Amino acid sequence: MRTALISDVHSNLAALQAVLEDIGRQGVDRIVCLGDIIGYGPNPVQCVDLVAQRCQWSLLGNHDFGVVYEPSNFNAVAEDAAFWTRRELERHMRDDPAAGVRRWDFLNRLRVRVVEGDFLCVHGSPRKPINEYLFPTDPENDPQKLDSVFERIDRVCLVGHTHVPGVFTDDSEFWPPDELPDRTYVVRPEEKAIVNPGSVGQPRDGDPRASYAILDTGPDGKQPTVRFHRVNYDIQLTVDQIHAIPELHPMLGDRLLEGR
Ligand code: ZN
Repeated sequence: MRTALISDVHSNLAALQAVLEDIGRQGVDRIVCLGDIIGYGPNPVQCVDLVAQRCQWSLLGNHDFGVVYEPSNFNAVAEDAAFWTRRELERHMRDDPAAGVRRWDFLNRLRVRVVEGDFLCVHGSPRKPINEYLFPTDPENDPQKLDSVFERIDRVCLVGHTHVPGVFTDDSEFWPPDELPDRTYVVRPEEKAIVNPGSVGQPRDGDPRASYAILDTGPDGKQPTVRFHRVNYDIQLTVDQIHAIPELHPMLGDRLLEGR
């Protein structure tokens, strides 16, 4: 089975549309979303509707939690964006109550973890599924953290949250896509791996293009491979939309141009 993995859309419609279009050319069986559909960006309503329509399921990310429940551990910029996002969802609910109910229902049902066979899917980490970050520097700086995380994984874990694509392995390595042949990682037999597809709408690895990955579990699911993809989109359009909304800090737009 070929599964497109998207994550951290962050209300960036132009990026999401470009990624879905690209995925449409790759011949996948389904799309799943690893959380943070909303927060930061200018198009929360459209992004929730599109993810609800096109993805088989989505996880609950810390920003989805922040909007639907309460922003916890957010800085002022992220908190303002969360409150604006909630007001925007409520405004659309008043305009079209039936669509609004469907939208809130979808957000309320987002799951914190999804288990499919020996695949575990969480937004952050298996230890703290909504909030813990697994950083590319962890293998070097905090190998014990990574060991404790891998103890909770049977085979493969899919995460988002850091907005940095790559693969962690249980021999304490992190592989960014650029260092992989054909931007593809083959999970060896007996090996455990954590895969982060990167961020659709708010990349933070210095490449401003939208990021996603395709996971191919093969005919028997024994040797999963993951290929990382980047997609150009109209970044300036999203930047301009953010700059036109006073409640969204201009920095949220500016940083899109740098992929930071
Ligand atoms: Zn995020």
